Amino acid sequence: TAALADLDPEVAQAMAGELSRQRDTLEMIASENFVPRAVLQAQGSVLTNKYAEGYPGRRYYGGCENVDIIEDLARTRAKELFGADFANVQPHSGAQANAAVLMALMTPGEKLLGLDLAHGGHLTHGMKLNFSGKLYDVASYGVSKEDHRIDMDEVRDIALREKPKVIVAGWSAYPRHEDFAAFRSIADEVGAYLWVDMAHFAGLVAAGLHPSPVPYADVVSTTVHKTLGGPRSGLILAKQEWAKKLNSAVFPGQQGGPLMHAIAAKAVALKIAAGEEFKDRQQRTLSGAKILAERLSQADVAGKGISVLTGGTDVHLVLVDLRNSQLDGQQGEDALHEVGITVNRNAVPFDPRPPMVTSGLRIGTPALATRGFGDEQFTEVAEIIAQTLIGGADADALRARVSKLAQDVPLYEGLENWSLI
Ligand code: PLP
Repeated sequence: TAALADLDPEVAQAMAGELSRQRDTLEMIASENFVPRAVLQAQGSVLTNKYAEGYPGRRYYGGCENVDIIEDLARTRAKELFGADFANVQPHSGAQANAAVLMALMTPGEKLLGLDLAHGGHLTHGMKLNFSGKLYDVASYGVSKEDHRIDMDEVRDIALREKPKVIVAGWSAYPRHEDFAAFRSIADEVGAYLWVDMAHFAGLVAAGLHPSPVPYADVVSTTVHKTLGGPRSGLILAKQEWAKKLNSAVFPGQQGGPLMHAIAAKAVALKIAAGEEFKDRQQRTLSGAKILAERLSQADVAGKGISVLTGGTDVHLVLVDLRNSQLDGQQGEDALHEVGITVNRNAVPFDPRPPMVTSGLRIGTPALATRGFGDEQFTEVAEIIAQTLIGGADADALRARVSKLAQDVPLYEGLENWSLI
């Protein structure tokens, strides 16, 4: 019954520090977001105590009557939100969702074709140190050297040559829409299954502001914590014919007991994602990213060898290209950190610098849009970022401008403490 702060002041203090960091700085890591208070409450709940191996109505443990209601709500909401036949809401994370998808769709040794990690793909799409690269035979497609976009003619040529069992579309760092219809037709032509990992852009899809992969793909996986704005976790959607195989690949294939507190939080997040306020937030996310891309394409930044990959963005992030700049990715990340803006350095395609340094920055707008930022604030953020990257500006003055934005649009207002119970 002891409160956290009394029982474990060391952990409590670091948690309080993290709440302050989130409040006082500007979070622009493209894969992060701020969950609503109701999601925090569901996640920090007694549901963490419950074992519920199996699925609603078919559990291997007693006492599942309440968690069955919760998992059913989460599944129904996921299906309705994305217009899917089937949903599995048990994956603990995006990577575990993807492990289950591959387990259901293919056998170790068979071939997977995905976007090269160095061109914006994810570890689970075939990186050699990841389970996906170790278990499966991997081929990859990339972006074109000229415009840094995925060239579907090239994807088709590679697919015809490699004859993969599964083609995966989706990405961790790519600023444009993909052509899901073209992926489908290539998959059909070579007899492959199509899997789309929409982890990054699922929130945009839910709001109707990004093409949906659901009508085209055999299976769609996603994280719930990026643009979708829910708890850290994954989920899988599919055509009904995949239901049995996917359920069995998640449990008992990849996981034991589902995290029922996370599933409750997913249910809440999916309810929120069906609302009008969520749509407005996704619109501000897109608009903010466009404002950022425009500012970082202007002459004073270009004069420093800084540009934006593909010249703009259709999504929630901007990829800054520093290949022609004195500034490298590490230095850019550090300079922005110094003024209170958190981003991550990111390799750009054909990057001449090593992966720990990189020639790119990935800057995203979802967390700030959730916080309440609109065009006015994003214009000021873009200006601060531009001046920081150009260099020579007074860092204290830039930091003060960041603090003002953070104060003007407060986060978790009224939350007195880092713990809700
Ligand atoms: N898929 C994509 C496209 C991602 O970008 C990520 C996260 O970075 C994942 C999967 C993995 O998600 P998680 O970190 O929850 O395992």
